[in-house]
Amino acid sequence: MLIKKGIAASLGIAMGPALVINKEQGRAEKRMLTPEEAHAEVHRFKTAVEQTRADLKAMRDKVLSVLGKKHARLIDAHNLILSDVIITQTIPKKIRGKLINAEYALQEALDNIERQFAKIDDEYFRERRFDFIDVFKKIASHLASAEKASSENISEPSVLVASSLFPSDTMAFRENKSVLGFCTDLGSKASHTAIFAQSAGLPAVVGLVDISSQLRTGDYIIADGEQGIVIVNPSAAIINKYKARKAELEKEEALFSRLKDLPAVTVDGHKVNVFLNLDAEGSPFKWKRLKAGGIGLCRTEGLFMNRSILPSEDEQYEKYLELAKAYSGCPVIIRTADIGGDRATKLGIKGLHDERNPFMGFRGIRLFLKYPELLKTQLRALFRANIKGNISIMIPMVTSYNEVEAFRQIADSAIAELAAEGRPAKPCRLGIMIEIPSAALIVDQLLSLVDFISVGTNDLIQYSLAVDRVNQYVSSLYEPFHPAVLRLLHLITEAAKRCGKEVSICGEMASDPEAAAFLVGIGVDTLSVTPKMFLRIKNAVRKLNFKTSAAMALSALDLPSAKKVRALFDRENSTHSKL
Ligand code: PEP
Ligand code: MG
Repeated sequence: MLIKKGIAASLGIAMGPALVINKEQGRAEKRMLTPEEAHAEVHRFKTAVEQTRADLKAMRDKVLSVLGKKHARLIDAHNLILSDVIITQTIPKKIRGKLINAEYALQEALDNIERQFAKIDDEYFRERRFDFIDVFKKIASHLASAEKASSENISEPSVLVASSLFPSDTMAFRENKSVLGFCTDLGSKASHTAIFAQSAGLPAVVGLVDISSQLRTGDYIIADGEQGIVIVNPSAAIINKYKARKAELEKEEALFSRLKDLPAVTVDGHKVNVFLNLDAEGSPFKWKRLKAGGIGLCRTEGLFMNRSILPSEDEQYEKYLELAKAYSGCPVIIRTADIGGDRATKLGIKGLHDERNPFMGFRGIRLFLKYPELLKTQLRALFRANIKGNISIMIPMVTSYNEVEAFRQIADSAIAELAAEGRPAKPCRLGIMIEIPSAALIVDQLLSLVDFISVGTNDLIQYSLAVDRVNQYVSSLYEPFHPAVLRLLHLITEAAKRCGKEVSICGEMASDPEAAAFLVGIGVDTLSVTPKMFLRIKNAVRKLNFKTSAAMALSALDLPSAKKVRALFDRENSTHSKL
């Protein structure tokens, strides 16, 4: 029996055989083949090259129509590489001559190219090696895709184990009932992998460092998303203990479900909105049973992932319309795509790949202002869908006043275009995410340009504490209860109140029952939470006394450490019964 400690990323317990996928993509392993196998291997290699060519063609067409000729030329350069003699002759010869697998032959060829490039003095030409790396990676991913496809069609109940699960990977099995939960080497509580697990309602443990190389498919595991541990090949006694805890959690869930029809008000009558966080690519009906009064954050970047072609205006329109109709009569806040960070896409957007520090880089509104046509397409779809709904638009990753002004201009031109085309459309309320300290410090100025704000604590914590939210090695420093975070949240709410505007929190901190007294106490109006925590948060709000929470929140602001803050919150929470 082996016990691995990681980070509890999504509540619940998953028990069953492990299915190990997406092992750390290191260097290709060498496999020796028979001459007959080598013949088939060359065919497999050529198929992967043709698949890459088809991807590039589709990508080129789309890039040409959206970003123009200049960007399409980059893809032409990649296409030329596919016709290079290295691909058409050298690698097939290597496979046949040395009787080795295609991945290894590809890797050897790339190593050789890298050595040649390293000798070039001119930096511009030396950098061209990235084009080769990109194309070779694409071929390698097609070579691996047969293996991947089988992991996407999981038919036996399994707990997925992976080095990391990028948001694009998780989409393939989001509605697959055979996926019981997952465990990853990388990630922290606020990584997008963790957020996906929560939104899909799956237990998850992340930040396990090397679990994907330690486990084999078929090992029986328990992923404890409550304690953040994974137990490999447990004893019968441990299995029974976990079965009992799982049953207890299910019972709790059933008890919470009675809260569906009750309002989220504190014992002294203070109303708090508890809304849902959803992903645009999922079914909007999945969580209707929770009877949420609104959608506080709908992430849309999933619509851009796992594909080499941009989603068209009509495709996006259908999605937003479905959501608006599913929640008709309720506020629905849809965020323009926050592509970048750990949510890179396969769209071939120049500047998005090989960033040294993606979280500090080309992400969210920065990317859309660089490619206004992408933003305009999304805005047009949203304005059209708003005819049948109550959609508000929210901008991610705002750092300055100018960005919001530039966004508004593009929104105005999208509305004007739709009107000129005679297409029915309706402008939406506009809000911004406050998730970067610079935005937090100028909230009052930003509020003069928009109707509402929502605080993204996942990023706000990352950027104010300088802790990469995905990096498990610094995850102990990722501290929502750090006094600086609490003071920033207080500063934001105070500024918004002075401007007469409401404040919502849609980061994971809103989904933490321990934080509810503080957030409600400082005057947060809306907690937008993951579906899995929705009823638990409603329950937590209903236990609070607003006046004592407000006093407790003020005293928390004077505490010098997260430890002391946690102790205060614990004391406060222990005065409430659990249910
Ligand atoms: C956040 O940063 O808190 C947030 C809600 O946005 P995301 O997690 O999608 O970056
Ligand atoms: Mg964010």
